[in-house]
Amino acid sequence: MSATSSAPSTTRIALRGDLLDFTGDPAWGEVDAADVRWRPDHWLLIESGRITGVQADAPPAGWERHDHRGRLILPGFIDTHVHMPQLDMIASYGTELLDWLNTYTFPAEIRFADPERSQAGAALFLGALLANGTTSAVVFPTAHKVSADALFAGAQQRGMRIVTGKVLQDRHSPDGLRDDVVQAERDCIDLIQRWHGRDRLAYAVTVRFAPTSTPEQLAMAGALCASDATLYMQTHVAENRDEVQWVRELFPEARSYLDVYTRAGLMHRRSVLAHGVWLDDDDRATLRETGAHIAHSPSSNLFLGSGLFDWRAAVNSGAAVSLASDVGGGTSLSMIRTMGDAYKVQAMGGQRLTAWKALHAATLGAAQALQLEHEIGALEPGRVADLAIWDWAVEPVGHRRMEVARSLHEKAFAWMTLADDRNLVETWVAGVARHRRPTA
Ligand SMILES: [Zn+2]
Repeated sequence: MSATSSAPSTTRIALRGDLLDFTGDPAWGEVDAADVRWRPDHWLLIESGRITGVQADAPPAGWERHDHRGRLILPGFIDTHVHMPQLDMIASYGTELLDWLNTYTFPAEIRFADPERSQAGAALFLGALLANGTTSAVVFPTAHKVSADALFAGAQQRGMRIVTGKVLQDRHSPDGLRDDVVQAERDCIDLIQRWHGRDRLAYAVTVRFAPTSTPEQLAMAGALCASDATLYMQTHVAENRDEVQWVRELFPEARSYLDVYTRAGLMHRRSVLAHGVWLDDDDRATLRETGAHIAHSPSSNLFLGSGLFDWRAAVNSGAAVSLASDVGGGTSLSMIRTMGDAYKVQAMGGQRLTAWKALHAATLGAAQALQLEHEIGALEPGRVADLAIWDWAVEPVGHRRMEVARSLHEKAFAWMTLADDRNLVETWVAGVARHRRPTA
């Protein structure tokens, strides 16, 4: 696909298919949730890149028609935590978090000091998101300003909704990746002025995680957040037990790992915290009170042996949860694989994650947690036309499973568990088809 035009199409476009999205947050464990909006064989109307209507009848002459009847149309997925420079070391063998960072991650990220590597990496990454039906993401580049620049520019070119920011890490990091407080602040301010609020881009104050920032750098990050309430903040928290213990040693004054961020002024309505596997009730109460939310990364948590996230406890405490691939800790950019892994993590904890809860967390739930529900996350007039068109099944086992499925939830759950990128027909961003399934 061409990635050179960012102008939304002015054509009047009508897409026909089975529209599935959400009007609210489905209750835990409820397979007949009223918040599920199912509009089979409907037409989605798009003008100038935005959804302008949904109707059962075919549109009049003058509309460019795309007939995908019998296919599933979902809002574009929102991946709330993923690392652009980690495609070089995805699927690396044999380590847990802290060794994994030193052995694989940091050496891969150092290469992004090179602007050409950053541009090529951003192009590969954004193309791979679209090839998985993901149209929006909250992304870590590297500590290098050029990597954030490359990611913002690549997203702008494709018209995508991307939240990112230069990674802050001024200690416990190798040469070539370590920044310092003064230069890092300067870089952040430059990048904010250049990109924040431009087109569909937003800046996130990006703290790698507590151990790799000095208290001075954390305070600088908190001051940046305090200076502009429209900025996002992203970091990692309580992913792995050794990491939690290390944070306890580094910040003895803090009540908990999460409390390190609270004390630095980093917990607010636009804070996205990856993992949160090892939180307690007080931490969850802080999430609810501040409006910060957890980007649950089940594939990564399983792959690195980090632990089993207690989604039910988060729901009970009123803390919001979105879903994230966390590549390269996670092993796939597919949000379908991520949802399947999320189900398995909950099953290990004796809980049952419905397809509705998972799909909501990857669409409308993430949009709301990011305060972007006016723009993304639903097939609703006024929203930007970010969507993906999927085949319900592409091979004999999937076809047979769909044939015998009795209820909508059974069908959606089997799809969520069995489908992959072969099922993806097209990905649209702001009313433009940016990815089409390769033809054999
Ligand atoms: Zn991560």
